[in-house]
Amino acid sequence: MSLVIQEQVSLRPYNTLAVDVRARFFVAVETLEQLRAALAWAKQREIAVFLLGGGSNLVLAKDLDVLVIHLQLRGINVLSEDDEFARVEVQAGENWHAFVQWSLAQGYSGLENLSLIPGSIGAAPVQNIGAYGVEVKDHLESVLVYDRYAQQTQRLSEKECQFAYRDSLFKRESGRRVILSIIFKLPKQATLHLDYGDLRGYLNKQGITEPTPQAVSRAVCEVRAAKLPDPAQLANTGSFFKNPVVSAEHAQKLKEQYPHIVSFVQDDGQVKLAAGWLIDQAGWKGLRQGDAAVHAQQALVLVNHGNASGQQILQLAAQIQADIKQRYGVELEIEPNIIA
Ligand SMILES: Cc1cc2nc3c(=O)[nH]c(=O)nc-3n(C[C@H](O)[C@H](O)[C@H](O)COP(=O)(O)OP(=O)(O)OC[C@H]3O[C@@H](n4cnc5c(N)ncnc54)[C@H](O)[C@@H]3O)c2cc1C
Repeated sequence: MSLVIQEQVSLRPYNTLAVDVRARFFVAVETLEQLRAALAWAKQREIAVFLLGGGSNLVLAKDLDVLVIHLQLRGINVLSEDDEFARVEVQAGENWHAFVQWSLAQGYSGLENLSLIPGSIGAAPVQNIGAYGVEVKDHLESVLVYDRYAQQTQRLSEKECQFAYRDSLFKRESGRRVILSIIFKLPKQATLHLDYGDLRGYLNKQGITEPTPQAVSRAVCEVRAAKLPDPAQLANTGSFFKNPVVSAEHAQKLKEQYPHIVSFVQDDGQVKLAAGWLIDQAGWKGLRQGDAAVHAQQALVLVNHGNASGQQILQLAAQIQADIKQRYGVELEIEPNIIA
C-alpha cells in the first residue's frame, strides 16, 4: 500500500488537549513497510519526524515543521497459553483500554487497574503508564521496536526497557525507537491489587468482598470517571504534573507545617507527595486564565475550555510550578511531553 502524505494538517483532532496546531506533513502508517517508507521519505528531504499515538500525553506548543507519523498498526495475537499464563502480542496502534477489556473478557488478568487510561498500546511503555499501584512494566515481557539509528527491528526485554516511575528508555531517548508491538505475559489466576486509592473500600461499599478482575476494572472505571474529566467532554491531558519525591527530612518539615499533607514513604526512605494536594491547598483549583484552567474538581489536571493554545497552558503550568516551589520548596515536573 502506498503512502498518503498530507500537508498542513490540523492536529486538533489528534490531541486530547484539543490544541490547534498544524503539522507540515502527516501520514498514517499501518505496517512496518509503510513506517520504513515514511522514515525514508522524511530522511531524503531532511525533515524531522514525530511519532503520534492517541495524542493523550502531549502539549503541542507550536506548529510542527515535521512529518507526523500516526502509528496505526493493528492486531492482537495469542502466542501461547497454559494453565498459568497467556502470552499475547499486541500491535502499537491498538487502543489501550479496548485491549484491557479484551484481555479481561478472555479470562486474562493483570491489567484491570490500568482500565480507562487513554491512548495507544505503542505509547504505554514510553512513560510506563501506571494507576492504582500497577504499571505496564509489571506484565510486559518484551517490546518490538524499529531502531531508527540501526535501521532495523530489535526486541527488548522488560529489563532492557529500563522502566521507572513514568519513565523508560523510550522517553529518555525520545524518537529513536518506534514501538511496533508488545508481548504481555498475563496471569490466568488473578492477584488483585486493591489497596492503592482505596479500591477495596469502594468495592466493599458495593457489597463486593471477593471481586473478580472484571469487577475491579469496573470499579476503576467508575472511580476514574468520577474524578477525571473525559477528554471528549473537556479537553485535557490527564495528570499534568508528576508526584514529586522529597527527602524524609523535607517531608517531615512539611508535615509539621501541614499536618494533612498527603504523602507516601518509598522503599528507599524518600517520600512521594501528592502533587494534586499541594496545588489544591495553594488555591489553584478551578482557576481560569482565558480558556486555560485548572480543573474545578481535580487540581492535578489542566484543561482547555475551548481555544487555549499550548503556550497558554504552559504559562499557567509555569505559574503553578513557581508558586509550589515558593510555598513548599518542591519542584513540580510536567508529566506530558511538551512539543515546543
Ligand atoms: C484523561 C487522561 C487520563 C490519563 N491517565 C493516566 C494514568 O492514569 N496513568 C498514566 O500513566 N497516564 C495517564 N494518562 C496519560 C496517557 O494516557 C498515557 O501516557 C498514554 O500512554 C499516552 O498514549 P498515546 O497513544 O495517547 O500517546 P501520545 O500522546 O500520542 O504520545 C506520547 C509520547 O509517546 C510517543 N509515542 C507514541 N507512540 C509511540 C510508539 N509507537 N513508539 C514510540 N514512541 C511513541 C510520542 O512521540 C510521545 O512522545 C492520561 C491521559 C488522559 C488524557
